[in-house]
Amino acid sequence: MRLQTNIPLAPLTTLGVGGPARYFALAKSETEVFEAFSNAKDKNIPLFVLGGGSNLVISDRGWPGLVLKIGLQGIEREPDGDGQTFHAAAGESWDNFVALTVSENFAGLECMSGIPGSVGGTPVQNVGAYGQEVSQTITSVRVLERATGTILDLSNEQCRFGYRSSIFNTQQRDRYIILRVSYRLRKDAQPTLRYADLQKFFATAQNPPTLLQVREAVLQIRQSKAMLLIPGDEDARSAGSFFKNPMVSREEAARIQALADARTPGMKLPSYESGDGQVKLAAAWLVEQSGFSKGYTRGSVGISLKHALAIVNRGGAKADDVIALKNEIQQQVLDLWGVRLEPEPVFVGFEGAN
Ligand SMILES: Cc1cc2nc3c(=O)[nH]c(=O)nc-3n(C[C@H](O)[C@H](O)[C@H](O)COP(=O)(O)OP(=O)(O)OC[C@H]3O[C@@H](n4cnc5c(N)ncnc54)[C@H](O)[C@@H]3O)c2cc1C
Repeated sequence: MRLQTNIPLAPLTTLGVGGPARYFALAKSETEVFEAFSNAKDKNIPLFVLGGGSNLVISDRGWPGLVLKIGLQGIEREPDGDGQTFHAAAGESWDNFVALTVSENFAGLECMSGIPGSVGGTPVQNVGAYGQEVSQTITSVRVLERATGTILDLSNEQCRFGYRSSIFNTQQRDRYIILRVSYRLRKDAQPTLRYADLQKFFATAQNPPTLLQVREAVLQIRQSKAMLLIPGDEDARSAGSFFKNPMVSREEAARIQALADARTPGMKLPSYESGDGQVKLAAAWLVEQSGFSKGYTRGSVGISLKHALAIVNRGGAKADDVIALKNEIQQQVLDLWGVRLEPEPVFVGFEGAN
């Protein structure tokens, strides 16, 4: 395995900002992952694990240690009752994997079509879209534990999945390198049609849609919101949704609704019961109602023309420009609505950027 030096990281991310990695390695096998990780340990330098780079803001200073890009490939299948367990290597493209499962008529991932990044990135923030989350199908995650150098299989419960969270981005951040993820999918089952946008898409259909039709609908809806990476589409030069949807108590939701009403009588705060007494608010609504509409521009950064939650690099942006816009939005939403928006992407090479 070749250790390279001073490698620019911006081109390895979808947002396209940030400085170089002091050291960089691409690992194509578990042995190479182990080698790279041992190398960083020996050199006593920090290690950052890079997947597809679609959920990152890398600082303009870059990364002072080793960036290890996970390039593990391979998909294995295991019969499992009325379905099949797919063991997918962490470096596989997520959307290629989804396409494969849909083409073989396995249900469980179809609504997450078109999400960029790698298989190994999906358990980290419990990736989800249009009514599905990976936590619903993941059975285990094979990891290398950095402290001990041992390989473990973590069960779904051990990953402690929540809304855009797991142990990998909370309590146990940086403890593991994900090598392989196993998903249990059902053969010939009905697609999930829980999300309003999808139900609307098929409202006039004569027959229930197939998995493939749902995948195609999701791709179409995502494209209309610039949530699909299309080369040349400047609205797609983003890290996806920049803020998580806030989860608040019913009392807090009522307080914000009253504020909305006071501001514009009859204005409805979009909110969804999340089943555990908590209410999920639409971060996009809060951003738009705080003066940041689609197309908002601040120098070389701005908000996507198609999606109020996506901060985009309009060309030549620095990470500091992204951070300045993030701070401006967070402050304005806090001042106007009393809600602290939490960023979704991972900040790399910053201290205390959240
Ligand atoms: C246009 C667009 C649309 C998006 N839509 C969605 C969406 O609908 N739903 C959603 O949930 N997300 C969405 N995202 C965010 C992103 O695509 C996902 O979070 C994705 O799973 C990140 O995977 P990645 O491989 O790119 O990870 P990276 O961005 O490379 O890394 C993200 C984090 O995961 C860690 N990581 C990655 N791989 C490994 C590994 N093998 N072992 C240990 N840690 C690892 C990194 O260290 C980092 O902390 C979107 C992003 C974009 C740009």
